[in-house]
Amino acid sequence: MSYDTSNIFARILRGEIPNDTVAENEHALAFRDIRPQAPVHVLVIPKGPYVSYDDFAANASDAEIVGFHRLVAQVAQSEGLSLAEGSQGFRAITNAGTHGVQEVPHFHLHLLGGRPLGRMLQ
Ligand code: 5GP
Repeated sequence: MSYDTSNIFARILRGEIPNDTVAENEHALAFRDIRPQAPVHVLVIPKGPYVSYDDFAANASDAEIVGFHRLVAQVAQSEGLSLAEGSQGFRAITNAGTHGVQEVPHFHLHLLGGRPLGRMLQ
């Protein structure tokens, strides 16, 4: 699947539509989901044009991959989700493609927390 430069997160990265930024670094941006499913619901996206998790993992540079994950850790800490600092935990998920019910075709990680999240896999 080729990258669609008109997707909503590409437009956020270009500054064409507003977002509630939580943190960013050279390689990634973290912002609040517009339809939060938990008290904390932050989306972390790479700044590069990657459609899905597998695209990112296969094709991003080492610096992009490290930068992305360091931002996830930074946000977990700043949002009070870090286990090391006594939080009750969180969920980090990414949806891919039709079966994964991916709405926006720019790779993103959902970071959710602040309430018990229930069991996902039985
Ligand atoms: P997906 O189903 O692709 O994993 O999740 C896409 C997420 O993006 C959804 O949780 C949805 O609420 C969020 N979203 C869609 N459009 C926007 C937007 O314009 N701004 C923000 N902040 N989030 C959005």
